[in-house]
Amino acid sequence: METKIIYKKPMLYFLIKLLFRDYNFNNGVIFSFGNKIYTNKELKIWKRGHEFIHCKQMKFSSIYAIIHFIKYLFLRKFRLKSELEAFQTEYLLLGKTEYALHELSLNLSGPLYGNLCSYHEARDLISQ
Ligand SMILES: [Zn+2]
Repeated sequence: METKIIYKKPMLYFLIKLLFRDYNFNNGVIFSFGNKIYTNKELKIWKRGHEFIHCKQMKFSSIYAIIHFIKYLFLRKFRLKSELEAFQTEYLLLGKTEYALHELSLNLSGPLYGNLCSYHEARDLISQ
């Protein structure tokens, strides 16, 4: 399946910002919906890999994307599972370096994802 990279804000940007308070297009936070990846800058191959996983999780479909985001918003376990798969892919594409594991673990355990787990849990999970 093909994904499409779009260099502008997604539709209903205000609504997305309302639901995900740390989402900010202008700060380079990437948002995927169905088969579309919204970003304000060129994406490195590992970031594309991460977002490709999310598109795959949404079956590259807008309908599944809506279901995905409802679950993503309300079920922390689902959010962690979704992100973990994407982070593991990113880690692989980054060559599984210690630096990558550190940076990815900080990110996954951080506020952007709602502090889903501790830093050490993130390390264990990503490197599984
Ligand atoms: Zn993600």
